[in-house]
Amino acid sequence: MLLKEERRIVYDAVQALVKGGLVTGTWGNVSCCNREKQLMAITPSGLPYDDMTPEDVVVVDLQGQVVEGAWKPSSETPMHTMLYREREDIAAVVHTHSTYATAMAVLNRPIPPVIAELALGVGGPVPVAPFARVGTVELGRNALQAMGEYQAVLLQNHGVVTVGKDMGRALNLAFIVEDAARVYIIARSIGEPTLVPEGVIQELFELFKGYGQKKK
Ligand code: 13P
Ligand code: ZN
Repeated sequence: MLLKEERRIVYDAVQALVKGGLVTGTWGNVSCCNREKQLMAITPSGLPYDDMTPEDVVVVDLQGQVVEGAWKPSSETPMHTMLYREREDIAAVVHTHSTYATAMAVLNRPIPPVIAELALGVGGPVPVAPFARVGTVELGRNALQAMGEYQAVLLQNHGVVTVGKDMGRALNLAFIVEDAARVYIIARSIGEPTLVPEGVIQELFELFKGYGQKKK
């Protein structure tokens, strides 16, 4: 079986998203790229996450052709492949419709850096990519352009995408972005939130590159 490890990584990430309340129904999709083989493992389209197994994850090349798998790959395959083709620094993509991040996307407003974790993980506000239809190359292009060299982007009237050099980072950011949007919306309901001081954001972002534990 191709990309056995990456299929497992995708499956585990999806289960973490479900457990963390970041997905509703079958919405959202997750992929993991093997740069050496130029292939990615991506969630099948519209398959209930509860019934999914790692074997259900589909292997697709970076042009979007299915290489192995019984199911149709995610309808957002064009966006995932475009991100991998254009961003050589990433190997994982997480797309959700998590509630608070999507609320900001519906307002067409970036999530400002209100909590340190967001400044750490994203390096600034989370921008909004202009609206494009679900599953189109245009959606991928808009996401790529709006995200620039950073790691997260909102999709207008749709949801959110986070990326990372590994799944741990992309997944962690999906939770951080949702949390930041939630904190911002709650804080806005009773006042005007203050932001993480401008000068500190880049410093925190650099720090995050080495954040976490390393095995000795
Ligand atoms: P898939 O079930 O095809 O991955 O689509 C869900 C989605 O989020 C579309 O944007
Ligand atoms: Zn979506």
